[in-house]
Formats: sequence, C-alpha cells, structure tokens
Amino acid sequence: MNLKNIDKFMIAGPCSIESFEQLLSTARHVKSCGANILRGGAYKPRTSPVSFQGLREEGLKILKEVKEIVNLPVITELMDPRDLKKVYDVADIIQIGSRNMQNFTLLKEVGMQDKPVMLKRGISATIKEWIGASEYISNEGNKNIIMCERGIRTYNDYTRNTLDLAAVPIIKSKTDYKVIVDPSHGTGLRELILPMTKASFALDADGVMIEVHPNPKEALSDGDQSLDFKQFEFLMKNLNEAKFI
Ligand code: PEP
Ligand code: MN
Repeated sequence: MNLKNIDKFMIAGPCSIESFEQLLSTARHVKSCGANILRGGAYKPRTSPVSFQGLREEGLKILKEVKEIVNLPVITELMDPRDLKKVYDVADIIQIGSRNMQNFTLLKEVGMQDKPVMLKRGISATIKEWIGASEYISNEGNKNIIMCERGIRTYNDYTRNTLDLAAVPIIKSKTDYKVIVDPSHGTGLRELILPMTKASFALDADGVMIEVHPNPKEALSDGDQSLDFKQFEFLMKNLNEAKFI
C-alpha cells in the first residue's frame, strides 16, 4: 500500500473485532459512507487482564475474510513481535498502539517490514519522545510511517484523554510523515468526535481514525466512544458538506 496515493485517511471500524457479522456489517456501512480503510483490533491492550482481550488469531481470520469481501485495506494492532507473521499476513497497515510506543524491540521489528506502520502517540509521551520512537522504525529502513495523535494523559478527567491537536502542525513541520488524529481515544466521548474531527481537518490533518460499532451499548470495548451507523453517516455527510473530505 502506497501511503502517498491516499489524500485523506478515513479509517473506521470497531475497536475490537467481535464476530464475522459485526465486522462485515460495519465494514459495508463505513465503506458506503466513504471510509477508505477498515480498522479492527484482534489483539487488544486492555487495562485489566480480565477484560476482553480480543479474538486474537480468530479475529485476524475474520479480518481477512471481511477484507476480501468488502475490498478495503485494513489496519490492525500488533502488540507482540511473536505475532508479526500473522498480523503481516492480513494487515495493509500495522498499528503500534499507544502503550507500545516505546517498545523498542517491537518498533525495530516493524521497521524491518515492507508495510506501512501507524505509530500512535504514547499515553504520556512528549512530542520529542514520539518522534524518537518513529526513528526506531525509520532507522531500520521503513519510512512508511503514519503518526497518529490519540490524546495524552493530563489532569483533565472530563475526557478520557486530552487530544493535543497542536501536535498536528508540529509533527507536520518536523517530519515528512502523514499525520492523522484519533478523536475516539482522544476524547472517549462520542459527542466530541465530530467537532474534534472538523478541528483536525482545519489543521490540515491527513485523516482520522474513528471507532464505529453496530450497537455501541453492546460493544466489548470502547462503547462510549463508538459511533453507531447513523452517527457515522451523519459525520461523513457533515465533513463532505464542509469540504473537509
Ligand atoms: C486502538 O486504536 O484500538 C487503541 C487501543 O488505541 P490506543 O493504542 O491509542 O489506546
Ligand atoms: Mn478502542
């Protein structure tokens, strides 16, 4: 996948892959609304070990099937270098999650691959640390990097994280990489996703990643920040009308 060919990364899909039907219906819907990349986590980094950890290999299998049916490139998270082959086999873009931003072994491993890597900003990472982490990937040869601002931990506890939108123009000025925003994890609140997405595009972000679920109340992870199908459709219409996409 050549990142240069994509003008705006409209990445959408569930936080976690929960079933074939859940992923297929979401994929069909987000594609029909104009999303150009499908997201879905198979390996989930959860705060508690007793929370749903993802369908793992079964999730990757579902992702592969759905990808072929709907014909959309897919992004999914790699948490452990031991799962690299399995993730590489299905992912068009390999996601490195916030909690692993400074997992240097993992960064070097994806740096040796010939597939794009999306590097999410660490939960408490400074801009300098985030750029340093990207250098662990690029130093191994892989320069196909997308930087994803996903909010950082601050004293503000109204939102799940504090979305640091200043990072967009900063990273754009300091690197050649595409910069996208994840307003879902960045705020944790579905009502803030549309305004923060518009703000991201006003700052010339190269795209957004948004969590969408057929029934957010029943989601096995991140339901509060997931849009339902109607809400995602409304968001995409709104962005089109505002000529952001
Ligand atoms: C995700 O995108 O599914 C995710 C876990 O995000 P983050 O690593 O930003 O918390
Ligand atoms: Mn999530």
